[in-house]
Amino acid sequence: MTANTYQPPHPSEDLFPLPTKPRLLVVDDQAANIQVLYQILSHDYQVLMATSGAQALALCASKQPDLVLLDLIMPEMDGYQVCQRLKADSITRDIPVIFITAQTDESAEEKGLDLGAVDFISKPINPRIVRARIKTHLILKAQSDLLRSWAYLDGLTGVHNRRFFDERVNAEMGRAIRNQTALSLVMLDVDFFKRFNDHYGHQAGDDCLRRVAKTLKTSLMRSSDNIARYGGEEFVCLLPDTGFAGAMQLAETIRKDVINLQIEHATSSVAPFVTVSLGIGCKPEKAHGSANGLISLADTQLYKAKEHGRHRIFGAELLPDL
Ligand code: GH3
Ligand code: MG
Ligand code: MG
Repeated sequence: MTANTYQPPHPSEDLFPLPTKPRLLVVDDQAANIQVLYQILSHDYQVLMATSGAQALALCASKQPDLVLLDLIMPEMDGYQVCQRLKADSITRDIPVIFITAQTDESAEEKGLDLGAVDFISKPINPRIVRARIKTHLILKAQSDLLRSWAYLDGLTGVHNRRFFDERVNAEMGRAIRNQTALSLVMLDVDFFKRFNDHYGHQAGDDCLRRVAKTLKTSLMRSSDNIARYGGEEFVCLLPDTGFAGAMQLAETIRKDVINLQIEHATSSVAPFVTVSLGIGCKPEKAHGSANGLISLADTQLYKAKEHGRHRIFGAELLPDL
């Protein structure tokens, strides 16, 4: 490319880069209509196709497309119904929907927008208009995804925040009960952190929390998604499909990794370095239980770890159903 042909990216694209090939779902009961859109879009997008409302709903849940192009008139379930169901489900409600329809009356458009669609495009389609509108809505979607993800992050450490954890722990408990899988929770707290702040200052305290959070990400290899800052100097790791032994093993790794950071802590009564105490709560495969029950179990175990001298791990399982 020569210098004079270079076009800098549009500022909004620069700030909110789209993933390499966004994924679109085209829904139309007429295969020929899908074919037309496929030809217009497949160069720039990954195009998924569905020929019925039911198929569209299933694909949205499993493949999470970035945008849906939805035909209005279809047998069995029409576009309005599909849109309504997408918007009613927390897993699919943030996927933007554009109606594509031969109907041109305003009331149809009003109804579609009322149901939560972001746009209305009439058939026969003009390829340039379709491409331009899709691009606009994908940029808006990327921006709102980013804002949403910020709302779930802890500003100091960059791991997830309490709000994220509260939502996630409930969802994971529901899933673990449905699938009869284990779910463990490790709760950890920095030992004598008040003394650390008093001795080294609040800024050093903040730095220490950042380093502990970073270490947690490294220790938790499966997914850093499941780490959150629970409170001041307390963190939680939520471990789906992990039984008691696995959780104990991970807690031990964390315990060692934190002391191995060798963050000086002259006023600690446990060690010359920053240490953590850990409490584990585990829902075994066959047990039931609530998210709150799991949290309070881990909390009680953490309290025991503190009582028994800190820098150690205590854990317990929820009772299995008889
Ligand atoms: P223990 O060993 O029993 O856990 O004692 P501790 O001193 O760690 O616990 P305590 O609950 O008495 O004190 C927690 C301290 O954590 C007090 C608070 O100022 C500090 N803290 C909480 N959030 C932050 C933060 O964001 N930054 C800093 N620097 N300190 C924080
Ligand atoms: Mg503490
Ligand atoms: Mg504490």
